[in-house]
Amino acid sequence: MARIAVGGFQHETNTFAPTTADYAAFESGGGWPPLTFGDAIAPRLDGANIPAAGAIDTLHAAGHSTVGLAWGAASPSAQVTRDAFERIAGEIVRRLADAGPVDGVYLDLHGAMVAEHIDDGEGELLARVRGIVGQRVPVIASLDLHANVTRAMVARSDALVAYRTYPHVDMAATGERAARLLCDVLRHGAPLAKSARTLDFLTGIPSQCTTIEPARTLYALLERLEQEHGATLSFTPGFPMADFPECGMAVFGMGVDEARIQVAVAALRQAVADAEGDFHLDLYLPDDAVRRAMQRGAPGAPVVLADTQDNPGAGGNGDTTGLLASLLEHDAPGSVLGLLIDPASARQAHAIGAGRSSRFRLGEISGVPGHVPLEGEFVVERLAEGRFTCTGPMFHGFRMDLGPMALLRRGNVRVVLASVKCQAADQAMFRHLGVEPREARVLALKSSVHFRADFEPIAREVLVVAAPGPAKADPAAFAWTRLRPGLRLSPHGPAFAPAAA
Ligand SMILES: [Zn+2]
Repeated sequence: MARIAVGGFQHETNTFAPTTADYAAFESGGGWPPLTFGDAIAPRLDGANIPAAGAIDTLHAAGHSTVGLAWGAASPSAQVTRDAFERIAGEIVRRLADAGPVDGVYLDLHGAMVAEHIDDGEGELLARVRGIVGQRVPVIASLDLHANVTRAMVARSDALVAYRTYPHVDMAATGERAARLLCDVLRHGAPLAKSARTLDFLTGIPSQCTTIEPARTLYALLERLEQEHGATLSFTPGFPMADFPECGMAVFGMGVDEARIQVAVAALRQAVADAEGDFHLDLYLPDDAVRRAMQRGAPGAPVVLADTQDNPGAGGNGDTTGLLASLLEHDAPGSVLGLLIDPASARQAHAIGAGRSSRFRLGEISGVPGHVPLEGEFVVERLAEGRFTCTGPMFHGFRMDLGPMALLRRGNVRVVLASVKCQAADQAMFRHLGVEPREARVLALKSSVHFRADFEPIAREVLVVAAPGPAKADPAAFAWTRLRPGLRLSPHGPAFAPAAA
């Protein structure tokens, strides 16, 4: 029986987003469980689709004991503040030092964290953890599929294991996989061989979805190569919204036979490179999307519009109104948009009461220049307290507390307001306000891909819409300054060249 330290620190950083993640953002979690310490971690995460929950279950089932360090996550946003990074990383490291000798360390990380003072949050945390336990104690981390995997992350860990689904229905399963690998390393007593390779292009997150091509075929190949070569392989298409030199896609693998790991990683990398052109994705302008959805959507078979560029899961604040304005202009029958994150309007709706109407100024509270709230008369149809448990394949078991929520209506268009930022990726978010998603004709969701897990089965079709927002669907649309020279900004697109000094 071994003694394993378990911690977690997850943030996906869009350096172009309007709002940073401070310590309070991790204390509340923004849809994730709140920042938790020590022995409280295991019961707090138990039963949720979260990597550390899967890892802890697996370690306990194998007869090992765990020592909880700190576990925290926050909604994707701009940089993690220096204060938040130092306090949470500091707590993980201090508790690890205080724990005395451990046989291994498991960390639940994202892989795309940028702090105000550090480009590579995970590389820095892994280096500090390594500094406590030394080279002989295995340190294994699970990562999000959107990790921007760096040389430091590979060098400072014994193994990295990433999700292989987007929507991320395999978060807990990835924690299990990482924990099983840790058990194997403890049993064999020898360190793993590693190989990691990067790709030369970026691709937007809507086209990284693993239920569509080319990712579906690439992950199937990954599993075949794992079997063939006795490797644990990962392909991270990355988070193409973090302006630092190591932003991008990677393929990496760990196992006992170094030569075979290198062969497997090289083969998978080549397959991704060959699929570059297949990562292109058609985007709709809001008016075109709404017109098509009005023609094709019907109760029982809604058309889903993904308001991808304001995705709270990619650094948006869920408060832009471009797509909502288009729905209102067309007065699209049977349409519902959610979640619009606007605590002041939600409070206003609760003050007015259900069944009454009032003038609202909706959204656009991020202070983005040129963005003004959408003003108009709306009826308050229904109110709710925002506490419910998710039911879909990705967020099942997540206990939400989204603060005061409200359902507003103008004409044929309804809007679900929430007070706490969260991605619209679970039908329970709508049912909580009495809206049955399947019965809508048009469902506009502030999400890029995660919604597909729970909504694609009920959708006639999905249209990815490029309405104004900070989570650009095309990475070439960002004003990059610090990428690695030569990296193509989109599939077969222009290469990054630093501005002349
Ligand atoms: Zn992700």
